[in-house]
Amino acid sequence: MKAHDGMYIGGEWRPAAGPDTIAVVNPADEQVIGHVPAGTAEDVDAAVRAARAAFPGWAATPPAERAGRIAALRDVLAARKDEIAETVTAELGSPLPLSQAVHAGVPVLVAGSYAELAASYAFEEKLGNSTVLLEPVGVVGAITPWNYPLHQIVAKAAPALAAGCTVVLKPAEDTPLTAQLFAEAVQEAGLPAGVFNLVTGIGAVAGQALAGHEGVDLVSFTGSTAVGRRIGATAGAAVKRVALELGGKSANVILPGADLAKAVNVGVANVMSNSGQTCSAWTRMLVDAERYEEAVALAATAVAKYVPGERIGPVVNAKQQARVRGYIEKGVEEGARLVAGGPEAPRDQGYYVSPTVFADVTPDMTIAQEEIFGPVLSILRYEDVDDALRIANGTVYGLAGAVWGADDEEAVAFARRMDTGQVDINGGRFNPLAPFGGYKQSGVGRELGPHGLSEYLQTKSLQF
Ligand code: NDP
Repeated sequence: MKAHDGMYIGGEWRPAAGPDTIAVVNPADEQVIGHVPAGTAEDVDAAVRAARAAFPGWAATPPAERAGRIAALRDVLAARKDEIAETVTAELGSPLPLSQAVHAGVPVLVAGSYAELAASYAFEEKLGNSTVLLEPVGVVGAITPWNYPLHQIVAKAAPALAAGCTVVLKPAEDTPLTAQLFAEAVQEAGLPAGVFNLVTGIGAVAGQALAGHEGVDLVSFTGSTAVGRRIGATAGAAVKRVALELGGKSANVILPGADLAKAVNVGVANVMSNSGQTCSAWTRMLVDAERYEEAVALAATAVAKYVPGERIGPVVNAKQQARVRGYIEKGVEEGARLVAGGPEAPRDQGYYVSPTVFADVTPDMTIAQEEIFGPVLSILRYEDVDDALRIANGTVYGLAGAVWGADDEEAVAFARRMDTGQVDINGGRFNPLAPFGGYKQSGVGRELGPHGLSEYLQTKSLQF
């Protein structure tokens, strides 16, 4: 795999400040596929300075011109889709068709949506005798995870650039090659020097330096709740804007009148996709007592199609593999019924986890409360609709969810009572403009669409 040995700062690839590197490993075969520099506080400082220097010019660039640059970036991402998909597969281990359709495909949609929004967004509005100006916040420090390596970057960089902000990105140490490809695309699309900068490195060093840098005006983070909490505290101490996209334990609520087979099949596919490494995955399936065993049998049949190494890839690294297997052991220990899979690794090589389904999961069990981030589905039984709502809302998270009912009206009525940021009704399609983000401990702020753009704006009102 192609890897740069420098940082993309101020519109050029520059040597890193220190000698340390990070080995990038293919989780499917555990082979090292490249090395990238491990950035230090010095690299972060250089990148933030470049972003600060570029900010006044980019903020003053007319939105239509910014839109043109973002459209050019979308075009480069579209033209290099195959290379992006192969790179994601190499460093994340996802099957190539998934990398092509989702990992490479969705960022093109999202970048395209921000090219359009930059051109059409009302950056100025009249309110009585006031003119309200929506101005870019400044320099954005973006810290992203590995689960959707390019999507997570584009979901932050594209709205920030559309708003007129400049960006310093610290991507996950497991997936830096995709981030380098994005920086190449920025360069190829002709974005002005310093508008986007990349510092590869590890979270505790480069990530922490970026989150705490006084030249950063807004920190946008996606990842674990533990790190999110620290970043929120650091930002709070500096009175700095922060957006946190954290974990989830989303409910897939199948109401008594729903099409059970469809709801279970789509539900299983949702959890197994990307080896379960999706913050919005519907990891808790809620079924009424009467049709419970039928749902369990359907889920067992559906999951059998996910053969490790074919339809489902490994998890990202050895640590995640051990963590997910630990959760499966915990589920067995706490008395859940194993319907498929189990803690044993299904292959000798690669960080694979057996696609696993648990039945007889009760709301108090660890596997019903904590984010596992692996291919593990818990099926819970409810007595009536109010019980289903109590279970659905009964975690610290509130990121996403699904409701299946006899009709949309019934499902929507249930969804209105859910404490969660996004709900798919009877298999509703992904919408790149829909605000995405959490209630409760799933986070602060929203990504995607106009709501995602507004995160990067601050408001000034003029009275005359
Ligand atoms: P982290 O939260 O550790 O990583 C996310 C990003 O934050 C990475 O870029 C990471 O760098 C960086 N980071 C780590 N520590 C710091 C720090 N002290 N200051 C600033 N940045 C930091 O997630 P993990 O990769 O450890 O995954 C653990 C769990 O988190 C998963 O099992 C899952 O439950 C959850 N998660 C949730 C995601 C979501 O989409 N909401 C995405 C990924 C994970 P580095 O890569 O070097 O560690």
